[in-house]
Amino acid sequence: MKDLQQLLEFDRKHLWHPYTSITDPLPVYAVESAFGVRLHLADGRELIDGMASWWCVIHGYAHPELTRTIQEQAAKFSHVMFGGLTHKPAVDLCRLLVEHSPAGLEKVFLCDSGSVAVEVAMKMAMQYQYARGRKNKNRFLTIRGGYHGDTFHAMSVCDPVTGMHNIYSGVLPEYLFAERPACRFGQDWHPEDIQPFAELIADNCDQLGAVILEPIVQGAGGMYFYHPEYLRAVRTLCDKYDVLLIADEIATGFGRTGELFGCDHAGISPDIMCLGKALTGGYMTLAAVLATERIGVTISEAAPGVFMHGPTFMGNPLACSVAVTSLQLLLNSDWRKNIERIATGLTRGLAPCADYSQVEDVRVLGAIGVVELKEPVDMARIQVEFTDRGVWVRPFGKLVYVMPPYIISDTDLAELTETICDVVALGNE
Ligand SMILES: *Cc1c(COP(=O)(O)O)cnc(C)c1O
Repeated sequence: MKDLQQLLEFDRKHLWHPYTSITDPLPVYAVESAFGVRLHLADGRELIDGMASWWCVIHGYAHPELTRTIQEQAAKFSHVMFGGLTHKPAVDLCRLLVEHSPAGLEKVFLCDSGSVAVEVAMKMAMQYQYARGRKNKNRFLTIRGGYHGDTFHAMSVCDPVTGMHNIYSGVLPEYLFAERPACRFGQDWHPEDIQPFAELIADNCDQLGAVILEPIVQGAGGMYFYHPEYLRAVRTLCDKYDVLLIADEIATGFGRTGELFGCDHAGISPDIMCLGKALTGGYMTLAAVLATERIGVTISEAAPGVFMHGPTFMGNPLACSVAVTSLQLLLNSDWRKNIERIATGLTRGLAPCADYSQVEDVRVLGAIGVVELKEPVDMARIQVEFTDRGVWVRPFGKLVYVMPPYIISDTDLAELTETICDVVALGNE
């Protein structure tokens, strides 16, 4: 216990956690081990994980096949440079990605994290337009309420309000934002929903290189699910105005929404697609950017003749090998039926929340469940309420949301949703 106290004390004094204060940090919990859907804390407690460590751990923690894969690869070689060298883990992974991603995506660029994948995708779009002699087409259009990562260019297309663009004014490029789609997933489609976007792209197409958005599910920008017709209309407009479409599938990829990719809900193919998060089943950081043949060829046939990017840890073999096993586990399972099972459990389990006066909205899509409150949660209080009841849920702003590992049992899922209802009800006085 003394060791644990010292560990937490040093953490509190010296470590920065995501989006936290260094002088007034919220408490953190030390994890000792994790198996399946359970986090085992160093203080002896056991929590049912509702977050899959931010979309990543789809097969659960310490999965024997994933662990074995990474051990076997480490015994052969953990890393080699990707300049001038290649290996089976990278080739096997890219073969799977090309085969299962939306039609037409043929060229794969491997990189380190989601934000870097977004940087790579935006650079690729710019270099493509440059290669075609359309140097003015170097701006981007996106929709409000999005999240694309924390590096500078990724940040420039995050929601300007929640992304705090005012801090970086003068440095952050100013891009174009359409209103967030009003028509929700599963509700009626009204064609006028696309009007604001249609006007922006029509008025600015001379300077627009690409549209970037999260297909169907906006994640960290608001956990909002919009109508597939909107995405279909965006695709049509991008083609009409000669603007590329970048789909950021970093959160939506690999079955989470009930389709393998968000774009599959609309039956469209983007020109460039970003993957990350669940790609390795949560074992390693890895991301991939897929592009069409046309983009690859156009970039390569104009000066400087190469795509100008190349991370040190590109194609890391540990990450690629575990990604291959993770994808095989997913594709060899009846993932569609399983996601439906989780969707049913979330819908049933979270339904009581809809009646609470402090709740604005309850929504479920695939293995994602969201309770949107009317007021922001008190993080310090709510985190303790959840952990004391044996679940790991990490709300932000007005959102209490879960996206559990796909292996969660019906019993654990029921416990997770019951606890959410109980904790949300506490604020009901
Ligand atoms: C998480 C996320 C990113 C950023 O990924 P990191 O690995 O955190 O850099 C980008 N886009 C979307 C849609 C995400 O959910």
